[in-house]
Amino acid sequence: MQLVEELRVPGLFTLVLLGHALLSSGAAIDVNRTSEQGEATITGISIPVPLFATSLKNYADPAQECSPYNYPPVANQMNSFPAIGSKASILPNDSAALDKWKTISGSIPTSIGLKTQPPGGDYPANDPDCWWTYQQCTIPKQNGIPPDLEDAPEPSTLGYGFDDGPSCSHNDFLDFLQSQKQKATFYFIGSNVASYPLEAQRALADGHEICIHTWSHPYMTTLSSEDAFAEIWYFVTFSFNCNLSMSPQIQMVKVAVGVTPTCWRPPYGDIDDRIRAIANALGLQTIMWEYDTADASVNGQSITEDTVENNYISFLQTAGSGTFNSTGTILLMHELNNFTMSEAMKYYSQISNAFQYIVPVGVSLNKTQPYLENNYSLPTFEQYISGTLMVNASASPITSSLSSTPSPTLGQSVGSTNSASRVAMEFRLAHVLLTALVLVFTCRP
Ligand SMILES: [Zn+2]
Repeated sequence: MQLVEELRVPGLFTLVLLGHALLSSGAAIDVNRTSEQGEATITGISIPVPLFATSLKNYADPAQECSPYNYPPVANQMNSFPAIGSKASILPNDSAALDKWKTISGSIPTSIGLKTQPPGGDYPANDPDCWWTYQQCTIPKQNGIPPDLEDAPEPSTLGYGFDDGPSCSHNDFLDFLQSQKQKATFYFIGSNVASYPLEAQRALADGHEICIHTWSHPYMTTLSSEDAFAEIWYFVTFSFNCNLSMSPQIQMVKVAVGVTPTCWRPPYGDIDDRIRAIANALGLQTIMWEYDTADASVNGQSITEDTVENNYISFLQTAGSGTFNSTGTILLMHELNNFTMSEAMKYYSQISNAFQYIVPVGVSLNKTQPYLENNYSLPTFEQYISGTLMVNASASPITSSLSSTPSPTLGQSVGSTNSASRVAMEFRLAHVLLTALVLVFTCRP
């Protein structure tokens, strides 16, 4: 008996020490970043201690899962893109971007000036530029530019979508959507796709619709036309491609996942006819919203978590009063952080009761070809509400195993918050307690 005990103790010590070594060194571990189980292994907590193995998922560590990782198809192309999180400009010697800009620049209004944030007092009250930030204008005043979409055309329908992803901790949320057989539209930030390409791939593989939310999430109307072009161009060209069949124009959403979106949403809704013209020239439909949860704006002062709760409740009351019986609507929500995602999950069943249909925006438009590539289709609205949630979804296969060796250029999330570090501290505390428990149980005389 004594012999067995002596053998067991060093064995467990070794495992615990190994776990600590992995946690502290950031050693390369093959991980799957497209599932909750995979995320648990990112923490290094998959130490085989059977007593505690069942609760591994609860200890997933956002600081670890959000740490840089090296996904070669993206990392190898980063020289061709703006730095992650930095405002985009056309890179020197990027002849494809320069050629494209030359082609479209003649159609961009030069009479519309750059704006300031917050809106300055010198902007004319008749809103000549159809500046959404000023008076929520969505019908352009310049000819030849289509209006923004701000509602879902089908009756009693919610165009369901989330801005600012991909989030490095979104698998729980995507699992939830999967469990509800619910698809959504995700407005991804290019820098976040570059940081978390595997998370972006999962959204596409799950059958969600992907739209563009610019490279670095700036106020677009404050940028020069050329820089505004670059903010969209480098997302479009960063598309979702795993097979790396590089065309002369390198594609970053394509590099990361394999499709090129044809819809976009301006960050903060900051668009005017100059920015609309640029997006339109790049083949993008502008998707806005009618209602805002303000979930991404919680600052603990003017906007609190209670404000968000009240916005959801007020929206539900509006829906309950029959407002959307003839035309559906679009609600602004975010994938930004665990609060915004948990609010979406919390109110999902009530929203389901308030609307007859909850669909990705593209589905509400019967937009069956959401990407430039024709190997991926969305169902029609009729197909979707009849239960066909995915059709012809032959996107590039997910490559979910990779090295977690830190990369100097990857792994910074645009728009993320500090909550991850708090949870990380809690996780480390839990890990220390877990280790202490193991030692108490195994080292007792
Ligand atoms: Zn945003």
